[in-house]
Amino acid sequence: MKTWWRQRTLRFRLALWYALGGALLLAGFSATLYLYVAQTMARPLSANLREDLAEIQHRLVVKPDGSLWWDGADMRGKINWNRDDPWFELWDENGQLVKRIWPLEDKQVEQYPTAPAPGVTALSVFRISPTIPLRVLATPYQVPGRDDEWMVRVISIHEPIADALGALRLIMVVALPVVIALLSCGGYILTRRWLQPLDRMVAAANRITAEDLGRRLPVDNPHDEVGRLAQVFNVTLDRLERSFATLDRFVSDASHELRTPLTTLRSVGEVGLRRSRSEEEYREIIGSMLEEAQRLHGLIQRLLELATAQGGMPELEREKIDVGDYVALCVGELSVLAEQRGQQVKLVSEPVTVETDPVLFRQALQNLVDNAIKYSPAGATITVAVQATRTHCTVSVTDEGPGIAPEDRESLTDRFFRADRSRERGRGGYGLGLAITKAYMRLLQGELGYEPVQPTGSRFSLTLPRAD
Ligand code: ADP
Repeated sequence: MKTWWRQRTLRFRLALWYALGGALLLAGFSATLYLYVAQTMARPLSANLREDLAEIQHRLVVKPDGSLWWDGADMRGKINWNRDDPWFELWDENGQLVKRIWPLEDKQVEQYPTAPAPGVTALSVFRISPTIPLRVLATPYQVPGRDDEWMVRVISIHEPIADALGALRLIMVVALPVVIALLSCGGYILTRRWLQPLDRMVAAANRITAEDLGRRLPVDNPHDEVGRLAQVFNVTLDRLERSFATLDRFVSDASHELRTPLTTLRSVGEVGLRRSRSEEEYREIIGSMLEEAQRLHGLIQRLLELATAQGGMPELEREKIDVGDYVALCVGELSVLAEQRGQQVKLVSEPVTVETDPVLFRQALQNLVDNAIKYSPAGATITVAVQATRTHCTVSVTDEGPGIAPEDRESLTDRFFRADRSRERGRGGYGLGLAITKAYMRLLQGELGYEPVQPTGSRFSLTLPRAD
C-alpha cells in the first residue's frame, strides 16, 4: 500500500488528500448539524406528546360502566384555551370515538382522523385540512375494571421541523457523494494548475545536458516556492557551467602545454636520427631531449600539485611555527639560485607565530621567491619581509623585475597564465606557480596579494591569521 501510494504522482496524492479532508470535514459538520437539530428541535415534539399522554392518563377517569370524567376544559372553539391542556381522542374497543378534546371547530376540519389500529402504539402525521397537519401518538388505554382495551390518541399541531429533519437526512445522503466527487475533481484541477510550473521545470531540466549547459529553468513567479526552487537550480547550473568551462579550458591548456615539449622531444630525436653523427653531437641531442623530458616531468608534477590543492587535498597538518625562522630557512635554500644570477636576497623580520601546514606554506613562499629571482635582472635585490598586525602575519616578497601590467593582474592566478609567453618559456615557467600558491593559501585560510612597486618591480604577499 505504501509503495502504491508513493508511486502515485504528487498531483494525484494532493487531490486525494484534498477530497478526503473535505469529505471528512463535511461529514463531521453535517452529522453535528443533524444531531443538534434532532436533539434541540425535533425530539421535543415527540417528547411533548408523551408528556401529554402522561397528563391525560393522570387526569382522565373512565368508570367501569363506560362513563368518563375529564378533569380539564372542553376547549372546542375556544380561542383562549389553556395551552397546557392536552388534545386527545378516546376510542373504545369497537373503534367508536368516545371523546375528542381539541380546540378545532368542524369548519376547520375537512377530514377527521379515522380510528386508530387497536392495540398498536404508533406515531404518525395526519392532515385534517391542506393547511393543518396533526402529529398524533396513538396508544392502548386500559380502562380500569374492564377487560376491554381502548385507544387514546394524543394530538398536537405538526411542526414542519420534523419534515426538515427528514429532508436534511436526504440532502446529506445525496449531497455528500456529490460534494466528494466535486472536491476530488476540483482538487485535481487545482493541483494540476499549481504544479504546472513544476512540469515545465521537469521538461526544461530534461533538455539540459553536459553539452548544452546554457539552458535555464523557467521562473514563472520568483516569489513562490517553485520559482525560488527554479532560481536556486539556475544558480547551481551557472556554477556547473562555469566549472565545466574551466575544466574544458584546463584540459585544452594542459594538453597544449604537454604537447609542446613532446613535439620538441620527438623532433629533436627525429632530426638526430636523420644521419649518423659524432659522439659529441649525439651527447648534445640526448642532452636537449633530457632537458625537454625534465620539463615535461616538471609540468606533470606541477599539474598534480594543482589538482591536489584544488580538489583532493588530504588532511592539513598544522603546526605552530615562528615565521621569521621558517622564512629564513626557506629563503636560504633558494639563495644559491639568486647568487648564480648575481642577485641578493634580503630578509627583514619581526617575531610572530602562525599555526599552519608548514609544507604548503613553504611551497607557496618558494613559488614567490622563485618568481622574484626568475623575473628580476642580474644584480637585483629581493626583499623578503615578515610583518605582523594585531591579527595577521604577512610575508612579502619584493623584487626589481618588470612588474605586472595592470591588464594582466586579474589573470595572474589563472592556470597557465604567462604575461609574455615567448619570453617566459625560456625561463622554464609553466604558468602554474601562482595558481598553486593561491589554492594553497585558500586551504590555509590565508590570502595571496599583489601590489606594484615603484619605479619597477612587484610585491607579492602571503597573509595568514596569527596564532598568538
Ligand atoms: P610561472 O611558472 O610561469 O612563473 P606563475 O604562475 O608563477 O608561473 O606566474 C605566472 C606569470 O606571472 C608568469 O609567467 C609571469 O608572467 C608573471 N609573474 C609572476 N611573478 C612575477 C614577478 N615576480 N615579476 C614579474 N612577473 C611575474
